[in-house]
Amino acid sequence: MMADLSAVTSRRVTVLGSTGSIGVSTLDVIAHARETYGADAFPIEVLTAQSNVELLAEQARRFRPRMAVIGDAARGGALKQMLAGTGIESAAGREAVIEAAARPSDVVMVAIVGAASLAPALAAVRRGATIALANKECIVAAGDLFRRAVAESGATLIPVDSEHNAAFQLLNFDEAHAIERVTLTASGGPFRDWPSERMAVATPEQAVAHPNWSMGAKISVDSATLMNKGLELIEAHFLFSLEPDRLAVLVHPQSIVHCLVSYADGSTLAHLSAPDMRTPIAHALAWPRRMSSPSRRLDLAMLNKLTFEVPDPERFPCLNLAQTCLRQGGLAPTILNAANEVAVQAFLGRRIGFLDIARVVEDTLSARTANSTAIPRDVDGILDADRQARDLADTICRRMAA
Ligand code: NAD
Ligand code: MG
Repeated sequence: MMADLSAVTSRRVTVLGSTGSIGVSTLDVIAHARETYGADAFPIEVLTAQSNVELLAEQARRFRPRMAVIGDAARGGALKQMLAGTGIESAAGREAVIEAAARPSDVVMVAIVGAASLAPALAAVRRGATIALANKECIVAAGDLFRRAVAESGATLIPVDSEHNAAFQLLNFDEAHAIERVTLTASGGPFRDWPSERMAVATPEQAVAHPNWSMGAKISVDSATLMNKGLELIEAHFLFSLEPDRLAVLVHPQSIVHCLVSYADGSTLAHLSAPDMRTPIAHALAWPRRMSSPSRRLDLAMLNKLTFEVPDPERFPCLNLAQTCLRQGGLAPTILNAANEVAVQAFLGRRIGFLDIARVVEDTLSARTANSTAIPRDVDGILDADRQARDLADTICRRMAA
């Protein structure tokens, strides 16, 4: 007999960033739920995207949201035309994305890339929605503020980032005193065993060719530098209130074990799954229940072995930069994230080399350390620091490119 999941499948969902890697996987999970539990499962309130108006319109026609929003204001006319006669509302522009997040719905999947997600994510937090948080940059950039907003509104935060979703499933907060260590695993990315000389001339194509996961360009580059794991340590600190010395990283090239939680009695619990984001997405949409997902299943007999190693700080300096910022606190993580976003874009645009990413981040941080300890009390303060760090990082990139 099939379980009654109607209280789960009747949840109304908003997907911010529906055309990206996580957005597409989210709609895939919803399509599977509609096949499995009924065509009316997970009614959709809004789908948003930044520029891919064709895919957004196609998704809207298939998934029938009440509204579709395109972030790039210049494409609003095209979206409206493509949705003519469907009865689906459309809107365009940055403010429209934020307003879309504020519209009533039960669950908001935050799958926008970068700190651009901060304002829409906060709009959803402030109305007390359940936030399925895939984006990590917003919580790195505005950790304390984000956490406070969640506490004040009574919003529910479910991490979707695979390691944090795994930790969320493993952590027993009633016994928080006994949590000795939370270890996030990293695949090591495509350059795990490359010497620095080879990394120095790595191309964007090589950097985004991730061995295990298929992801957007920005997070793929972050995985190649290990900055992704650095951002994730900061994310874990803010999500779970864990001090830096209780957080660790292990390189695990098979990406099967996503997180390990070690308790005071010597027990270590691990979360395993095939590397497929549809698993944490389905978990977040159904929490605290469990539902069917179309994800790849784990076959340990086929895999034969799982290996673990310590990350190399020499070849992957971004991890240390992030750990230092985590310990410093204040605006250091905000600046780290902003400088990294700029550096990654410059690398993807072939203006700087792969190893320059860490240099840009490091130079931006050292130029800004003097006033990076005060924590702004509002979003504008964070956005201000974010903008200043971006300008500085941009200047440093130009100097390197010259
Ligand atoms: P992506 O680049 O594939 O998609 C990004 C989405 O955000 C697109 O829909 C795009 O239209 C939208 N977008 C981009 N810029 C925007 C802006 N300025 N305003 C509004 N919308 C904008 O990225 P992704 O790989 O799906 O990653 C999304 C987020 O999830 C990132 O923060 C990433 O770190 C995190 N994440 C991704 C994965 C993964 O497997 N892809 C895993 C864990 C965490
Ligand atoms: Mg992750």
